[in-house]
Amino acid sequence: MTSKPKKILIVGGGTAGWMAAIHMQDAWGDKGIDICLIESPEIGIVGVGEGTTPLLREFYARLDIPESEWMPPCNATYKCGISFPDWSTVEGCETYFHPFFSDLDKAFIQHFWDNCNLRRSGYDVPAHPDDYFVTTALARQQRSPIPRHRPSTESMYGYHFDADLMGEFLRGKATQRGVTLIQDTITDVKFDHHGDITHVETKKNGKIKADFFIDCSGFKGLLIRQAMGEKPISTKDYMFNDSAVAIPTPIKDKDRIMSETKSKAMKYGWVWHIPLRNRIGNGYVYSSDYISPEEAEAEFREYLGADVEGVEALHLHWNPGRLEHHWKNNCVAIGLSQGFLEPLEALMINIIQTSLERFTDLFERGEFTNKHQQEFNNGVNNFIDGILDYLQMHYKLNTRDDTDYWRNARDNPNMSSQLARVLEAWDNNESIDRVLFDNIDQQLYPRTSWYCMLAGMGRFPEPTKGPLRLPARNQKRAREASDEQAEQFYPHAEYLNKLYGS
Ligand SMILES: Cc1cc2nc3c(=O)[nH]c(=O)nc-3n(C[C@H](O)[C@H](O)[C@H](O)COP(=O)(O)OP(=O)(O)OC[C@H]3O[C@@H](n4cnc5c(N)ncnc54)[C@H](O)[C@@H]3O)c2cc1C
Repeated sequence: MTSKPKKILIVGGGTAGWMAAIHMQDAWGDKGIDICLIESPEIGIVGVGEGTTPLLREFYARLDIPESEWMPPCNATYKCGISFPDWSTVEGCETYFHPFFSDLDKAFIQHFWDNCNLRRSGYDVPAHPDDYFVTTALARQQRSPIPRHRPSTESMYGYHFDADLMGEFLRGKATQRGVTLIQDTITDVKFDHHGDITHVETKKNGKIKADFFIDCSGFKGLLIRQAMGEKPISTKDYMFNDSAVAIPTPIKDKDRIMSETKSKAMKYGWVWHIPLRNRIGNGYVYSSDYISPEEAEAEFREYLGADVEGVEALHLHWNPGRLEHHWKNNCVAIGLSQGFLEPLEALMINIIQTSLERFTDLFERGEFTNKHQQEFNNGVNNFIDGILDYLQMHYKLNTRDDTDYWRNARDNPNMSSQLARVLEAWDNNESIDRVLFDNIDQQLYPRTSWYCMLAGMGRFPEPTKGPLRLPARNQKRAREASDEQAEQFYPHAEYLNKLYGS
C-alpha cells in the first residue's frame, strides 16, 4: 500500500474502535475519506478500562468536546494520580502516591530530587515523595484538580469513567459527525496476492470492502492475528499477571469522592479501586500460575466484605505481550489487538491514543511505504517496552515476603538490560537520567515518576550519616505549602456536583 486510502474500515466498537473512529473522522472526514466502523451485536466489548493518564484531556480538547459534555454521561470523575498501598514493607514507605505533575510542583521538585540523592548516599533525610507534590495533596484532601479561582495554574490530571458508557458516548458523537456504523459480525477476511486485505465477509451485509483496515477487535485480533498471522511476543516472563476479577461496590458517601486510583497489593497481585460518580470499580489483577480464578474471587470477596454479597463478578484472562508488527500491509492494530501488558498505571488508552496519533501523522504526510511502516512499528514497540520497564519496576522493588508470587517477582532475573541499568545506577547513586533518556523516544515517564517509585517504596541504603537540618526543613515547607495550595481547589464531590448540574 503506497497511497492514501479512500475508505477506512474500523473493525470493533470498544473504546479503541470508537476513539479511532472519531479521531479519524475529525482529521479526515472533510477530505473525502469514508470512515466506517463495524461492531458485532453478538460479541460484547471487554467492559473494563476505567482509568486514564492526562493524555485523554488532549483527545477531547482536539475534538472540541468539553468536560461538561462528556463526563456526566460517562459517570466520570477526576484522577490526580495513583496510590500504591502495601507494595513495600519498608518502615514509612508502606504506601506512596504517583502524582500527575504540573507547574505547581516546580517550587519543591528540586528539593525532592536533592533529598532523594542525599538519602541514596546514606544521609538520614526525609525523601518520601508524598510530601512534595500539590497533586498528591489534592488526592489526600479528596479535592478535584480544578482551582476555585481562574486564571490560576491548573494541576495535571486524568479521569476515571465507565468504559461501557464512554463507548456509547463516543459512538453517538462519531456517528453524528459522519462515521458510518454497521452492526454485523465478520465471518471471514479476504486478501489479494500482495497480502493486502480486500474485504471482510459478514453475516448480514455480505462483502464489505475498504482499502485500509483498523483492527480494534480486542484480544483476539481478528484481522492482524487471526487472519494475517501476527504472533504476539509474550511478556509473561517479565510480569506474571494474566487475569483479573472485577466486582463493583456502591459509593457510600456522595459528599466524599476520592480523586485517585488506589492500587493496593494483595497476596498474589494487586487490586484497583476506581471511584466513578455512581459506584466504585474494583478489580483484582493476579497471576493464574499462583491462584485459580475461584481462589482469587474468594480472596477478593472476603476483602471487599458485605458490599459485594450477591454482586456478580466479571472474570478476564489475557496473554500478556505485544505484537511486533502493529501495522502490516493495509492493516493497523489499535487497542487490545496490539497486545496488553496488564492494567497497572492504567496505560492502555494512552497507548491507543499514542498509536492513533502516530499513525494519523504519517497519514497526513502521505507516508505509506515499508520504511514508514517500520518506523511506526519501532516507535510503538519502543514506547510499549519503556512502559513494560516502568511497570516491572513496581514488582522488582516490592519487599513483601508473604507469598512466592512477591518473592519471585522481586528476584525475577528476566528484565530488560535498560531496567537492570536503572536499578544499578540508582543503587550506586549514579544518574539514572543517562540510562533512561538514552533513547528519548522510549520514555513515557519522566525522571520524577521513577524517583517517586524508587523513593516511595524505600529503595535506599540504611542511613549512616546525618540527619541534616536544611533538607528536613525543605521537606516540612514542601508539605505545608502543597497542603495549603491544595486548599485553593474545589473538593472533588463539590466540583462534580457543579459540573454534572451544569
Ligand atoms: C482487567 C483490565 C483492566 C483494564 N484497565 C484499564 C485501565 O484502567 N486503563 C486503560 O487505559 N486500559 C485498561 N484496560 C484496557 C482497556 O480495557 C482497553 O484498552 C479498552 O477497553 C479497549 O478495548 P478494545 O476496544 O481494544 O477491545 P474490546 O472492548 O474488546 O472491543 C472489541 C470490539 O470488537 C468487536 N468484534 C470482535 N469480533 C468481531 C467480529 N467477528 N465481527 C465484528 N466485530 C467484532 C466487538 O463487537 C467489540 O465491539 C484494562 C484491561 C483489562 C483486561
